[in-house]
Amino acid sequence: FQYAIDQDTIVAQATAPGRGGVGIIRLSGPKSSAIAKTIVGFEPTPRYAHYVPFKDANNEQLDEGIALYFPGPNSFTGEDVFELQGHGGPVIMDMLLTHCVALGARLARPGEFSERAFLNDKMDLTQAEAIADLIDSSSEQAAKCALRSLQGAFSKRVNELVEALIHLRIYVEAAIDFPEEEIDFIGDGKVANELTGIQAKLSEVLKEANQGALIREGMNVVIAGRPNAGKSSLLNALSGKDSAIVTSIEGTTRDVLREHIHLDGMPLHIIDTAGLRDSPDEVERIGIQRAWDEISKADRILMMVDSQSIDSKDPNEIWPEFIEKLGDTKHLTLVRNKVDLTKESTGTEIINDVPVISLSAKTGEGVSDLTDHLKAIMGFDSTTEGGFIARRRHIEALNKANRFLDAGNEQLHGYGAGELLAEDLKEAQQALSEITGEFTSDDLLGRIFGSFCIGK
Ligand code: GDP
Ligand code: ZN
Repeated sequence: FQYAIDQDTIVAQATAPGRGGVGIIRLSGPKSSAIAKTIVGFEPTPRYAHYVPFKDANNEQLDEGIALYFPGPNSFTGEDVFELQGHGGPVIMDMLLTHCVALGARLARPGEFSERAFLNDKMDLTQAEAIADLIDSSSEQAAKCALRSLQGAFSKRVNELVEALIHLRIYVEAAIDFPEEEIDFIGDGKVANELTGIQAKLSEVLKEANQGALIREGMNVVIAGRPNAGKSSLLNALSGKDSAIVTSIEGTTRDVLREHIHLDGMPLHIIDTAGLRDSPDEVERIGIQRAWDEISKADRILMMVDSQSIDSKDPNEIWPEFIEKLGDTKHLTLVRNKVDLTKESTGTEIINDVPVISLSAKTGEGVSDLTDHLKAIMGFDSTTEGGFIARRRHIEALNKANRFLDAGNEQLHGYGAGELLAEDLKEAQQALSEITGEFTSDDLLGRIFGSFCIGK
């Protein structure tokens, strides 16, 4: 990949391969208008739908359909774009493609149309990614969020952060460069205030981006608990299948079981772990180790207990070693199972900041409280107004920016070191610019656009 825009005219089938009522061939680049003229026999009127025969080099008719011409820069790619909407059969599409190539176009690489739109400043990188995410979306929610990203909702948030950072950098750098002006930026509190404000905003964006990534990629949910708590039964209740082996013999689930389900179109990856206990059995011990690997990667951990033997609703009390190993209870939900036997009421309560849900995996009562809870975590309530789609790389970049701001804060308050603060602010800005593609390596661009389909 070379990220200078070449002068090639590219062509690809824009519609999915196979048979369909209509199939679309799209061209972009300087030869589009000449190729258009040859195929339809005249210069097409910009943005006008011509219903015409499509001719080959010998003036023989290949197909007939709609021809559309969008001269640059007012086109998807910013270049001259020509579109042929013919009959959607693989042979017809192939003939038209071959003809365009004979007339001087070359076949487009995956994602090359979007890549050109990005390089010609028709959209930024998050918007280009959102096109792929919109097409690949697996739920209505994901599609809505991808559309919002495409319309710039995510970029706008990132750009606001970048602008706030630039504002702060100008002030700090002026103080460094003109010490005679005597801006005491440490003493006057202005820098500290602005920095705190930016960090608060950043963590808001990070939270929304996390939800956006969960909606795009699905949420990893681990069900952890002692043998016989009912983990496998819950997995079955959620997935509606008998995929996990449910027995009353302790230590049945020895390996990690994975189930992919959709809750209202939202992808969930549910993992049933080996019962966590000290076991003399080698195989079971390996299973337990794997369980901990999964727990460390999970978006949500359901700690499941049998409410017959455990009265407490405090995870620290129920299972101190588990909480200690976990580090914190940020991602924890306590599930009290088997309420059909204890006659406790079902429902959700919050105890010491930890959601506690009472249910019966066997009868299914209260299971919908759990699914509502999981949907709320993924932002299914809030995203109807303004959520956007996000990817892991966006979250990594936001986290990176956050680390530089933390470091800058430390420089400011710990050492009053202006130069080092300025450097951290610059790095934070750069990390944010990676999201929208202003400061993105060719390598990363190649990977992003390379994962698109051809014709996108
Ligand atoms: P795991 O070892 O944590 O995976 O637990 P299982 O799902 O294998 O369940 C252990 C036993 O508890 C089985 O006999 C289940 O039928 C039973 N069980 C699980 N959930 C419930 C429940 O909500 N109510 C009742 N009465 N029994 C349950
Ligand atoms: Zn099990």
